[in-house]
Amino acid sequence: MTKIGTSMHDAAVRQFVERRTACASIVRVRNETLPAGSAMMFYCTACGFPIIMPEHYFLHQTRLCFECVELEERGWLEEAIAQ
Ligand SMILES: [Zn+2]
Repeated sequence: MTKIGTSMHDAAVRQFVERRTACASIVRVRNETLPAGSAMMFYCTACGFPIIMPEHYFLHQTRLCFECVELEERGWLEEAIAQ
């Protein structure tokens, strides 16, 4: 378990809050309006960051962006969301 209160933890939580704020104004693409063969757009359920996947996206998780996966693995995501 990684120690909470480190500068890395604080920076990760601060960056999460900044990312979530920046992503709040993104105009979201509706996948059903895209031509066949287009990359599919998803949005991180924690911060809203766009996740771009090829059509066969069902082979991958699309719930969280890379940064939020890292936060979740370190046990910091719930705290970041609560900020
Ligand atoms: Zn995210």
